[in-house]
Amino acid sequence: MNIFIGSDHGGYALKEHIKGAFADADFTDVGCSGAASCDYPDFADAVAEAVVKGDADFGVLVCTTGEGMAMAANRFDYVRAAICRDVDDAKMARAHNDANILVLGASKTGPEAALEILKAFATTAADDAERHVRRRAKVDRAKRLADFSALAKDDPEVWAAIKAQVVQEDTEINLIASENTSSRAVRLAAGSVLMNKYAEGYPGKRWYSGCLPVDAAEELARKRACELFGADHANVQPHCGSAANMAVYFATIKPGDTILSLSLDQGGHLSHGSPVNFSGKIYNIVPYTVDRETERLDYDVLERQALEVKPAILLTGASAYPRALDFKRIREICDKVGCIMMVDMAHIAGLVAGGAHESPVPYADFVTTTTHKTLGGPRGGMVLCKEKWAKALDSAVFPGMQGGPLENIIAAKAVCFREWMQPAKKDYAQQVVKNCKAMCKAVQDRGFRIVSGGTDNHLFLVDVKQKGMTGKDAAAALDNAGIVVNKNTIPYDTESPFKTSGIRVGTASITTRGMKENEAAMIGGWIADILSDIGNTELQARIKVQAAELAAEFPVP
Ligand SMILES: *Cc1c(COP(=O)(O)O)cnc(C)c1O
Repeated sequence: MNIFIGSDHGGYALKEHIKGAFADADFTDVGCSGAASCDYPDFADAVAEAVVKGDADFGVLVCTTGEGMAMAANRFDYVRAAICRDVDDAKMARAHNDANILVLGASKTGPEAALEILKAFATTAADDAERHVRRRAKVDRAKRLADFSALAKDDPEVWAAIKAQVVQEDTEINLIASENTSSRAVRLAAGSVLMNKYAEGYPGKRWYSGCLPVDAAEELARKRACELFGADHANVQPHCGSAANMAVYFATIKPGDTILSLSLDQGGHLSHGSPVNFSGKIYNIVPYTVDRETERLDYDVLERQALEVKPAILLTGASAYPRALDFKRIREICDKVGCIMMVDMAHIAGLVAGGAHESPVPYADFVTTTTHKTLGGPRGGMVLCKEKWAKALDSAVFPGMQGGPLENIIAAKAVCFREWMQPAKKDYAQQVVKNCKAMCKAVQDRGFRIVSGGTDNHLFLVDVKQKGMTGKDAAAALDNAGIVVNKNTIPYDTESPFKTSGIRVGTASITTRGMKENEAAMIGGWIADILSDIGNTELQARIKVQAAELAAEFPVP
């Protein structure tokens, strides 16, 4: 047994006694080393760090009362330090709370009692009964707020906004297809001191001094991105998905050149050439559409159009396309046309990373993405490309269009990519799709028309106009019931983009919370209930309570 032990001057004599008398353990003594006055947090920090890293089986801290040591050690994540005055305290702290640091007060506990307490602490295991596990998880989850608790004092107004978001996530069912729920590790990196650094340029080639720490973070992000997606080169600096797309255009074509892309009202993205977006203003955009009958891409039609239009870039990828994309076929088209193949996988990047959707990376010249959708990382963008484009891409991002990169966000991207290398993420990606199919079927079975007849990925589109309502009204009714979706145009929509004929529903976020097909189908049933009786506010209120209960069963990480 490996015990890290520390004390201040008030606990020094008891610490020395324990080390000499407790034979069942190897002690690592972090100090102090005499009775001279010293500061207890220094030793609490050292023992707490050893416990967090896993170097110690548990820790022991001694000061005069135990209070100061406990307060200091409990500032550390993953530390549960317990002041124990008797054997029963020690057993309970271990069994119920899974304490990992024993804190003793030398003025309260004598040498013999201290040894008995230590023995009880060392020989009692955590009780993994469901209620204890649940309660311990709640202590950890309290950090969703506690991490930012200094703001309660420093800026109460911003604190209130953050708290409201936490409450919203805790109590509502989020089905926004472009959102997910970030991990705590991602949030910590995103909020870190790396934001203090100016780092124009790239790792090893910066315009500012003092960039070694951010170089390390950005190098990790680039390396992990390439490893995760099997890419030759990654630029992790784009501030968002739109900037990632801009970088590819800037790296490859000139103003006025032609981009062939899926039009916005058919599921494309603003940055694919909408007239109100920079892309539509700078380039000659030719839109392609999905087939009117199948509401899917018809690759033969796309090929004919591409050969006729001869675009500089054929851009695929979408914000609202529920079907799998055939990247091999798209490559064939690009080869016939002799154009650049660009895939914007913003929505499906997590499915690609987890193997639940074919990867575009082996086929495409460029793959752009956001890092915050199915990927679940920080809000940001990224471009992957073949080696021959690496230089052009990097200079397009900087100095071409951005100044200093957001190194804190880049570090959070690195954290996210590492998370995706864990085997459990493969199951997650598959589960997102299974949940989507289950929810979609539940809605479809109740007589709603689903765009393209179903889904292959993390989202589906419901044609609500066919039931006599707009997407706007449908989304508002669901919102009243704590079910959050967005209105969305459907192919060949006859409503304005402000009203729309559809809603878009996605399952990344509920899957992150641990929901499976049963819960997905239940939510699908609620959606059908509400949309079948859209004026029924009583029903909405009733489902809102049920939705909050379900949300409570599946806590947000
Ligand atoms: C969301 C999205 C983007 C852009 O994301 P922002 O980070 O909001 O700029 C780009 N392309 C597609 C297909 C998207 O869905």
